[in-house]
Amino acid sequence: MKVELLAPGGNAAMVEAVLDAGADAVYVGPRGYSRRRAAFELTADEILDLVPLVRGRGARLRVAFNTYPASGEIPGLLATVEKLATGGVDDIIVTDPGVMAAVRANHPGLPVHASVGCDIYNAADLEFYREAGVTRVVADCRWPAEELGGVKRAGLGLEVLVHATTCFSFIGQCCMSSYAKQQWHIDADGKNHYLGSPNRGGLCYRVCLRQWGLADGAAIAPKDFQLKNEAFFQVREIPFYIAAGVDTLKIQGREYSVDLIARVTAFYRSLVDACVAAPETIDTGLWAERMRGLAAARDTERNSRTGELIGEGGA
Ligand code: SF4
Repeated sequence: MKVELLAPGGNAAMVEAVLDAGADAVYVGPRGYSRRRAAFELTADEILDLVPLVRGRGARLRVAFNTYPASGEIPGLLATVEKLATGGVDDIIVTDPGVMAAVRANHPGLPVHASVGCDIYNAADLEFYREAGVTRVVADCRWPAEELGGVKRAGLGLEVLVHATTCFSFIGQCCMSSYAKQQWHIDADGKNHYLGSPNRGGLCYRVCLRQWGLADGAAIAPKDFQLKNEAFFQVREIPFYIAAGVDTLKIQGREYSVDLIARVTAFYRSLVDACVAAPETIDTGLWAERMRGLAAARDTERNSRTGELIGEGGA
């Protein structure tokens, strides 16, 4: 089976740009139910407006419900899934096991992928999510290569994040941002808008990247205390992933500029095509060299955005 290149769609312009750049599939975030701020999410109607464009290019449209909803939010979330599923969305990404079960019951034919936020790391986890009815699992960049085969043995599809930033903790398990900014309200529909927590549909203020001090007021030099928040720009691993039967290679980045994400997508399109055409002779060192410029541009955008977010996060 052909490996799928999955690119982010933080807005309608980005969806069109990544399709132009060669993405096989694009994922978007439904407003209030994904791990980004509203500016990088779309309403259900805006998502449905994209269906003809994505279908017209022969691509797939995926929607990430990758938060943990409170009980009062579940009816609204499931109504959104219903609207999107009947409107032509191809598959959804889910983190919460209760939501997975409800979606499987309501839409048995809708492919459900277990989000990277499920933090699946062993065979028992795989079995749990297989029984929950997921069709594919998403692995983060830190998975050891030898673990990937277990997913295929479990009879599940496998998606790997190849261009992403990881948390210093497990993705989806960090609460630090919500301590920094405790702001939330429940709207008339029962939707909880929890600004400081990406796990609850708000956004992360990247407080792990602040300069930390000791409780007694003494300063710590950043070099002495650096929480790891590593970026991955995988290139050399791509031929291995393709040979191992990975179904989807995923690019993170709904919050970046359209131009940058289009260039990253075009890079991976060319790399994947080159790997498929000549797997024995591809020189990934040359491709890694080419990736340097993109990685630098991405770091520049991320650093500038991180500074803004930390400022917004308050004390
Ligand atoms: S505060 Fe840092 S570790 Fe926590 S979710 Fe945000 S980026 Fe990840």
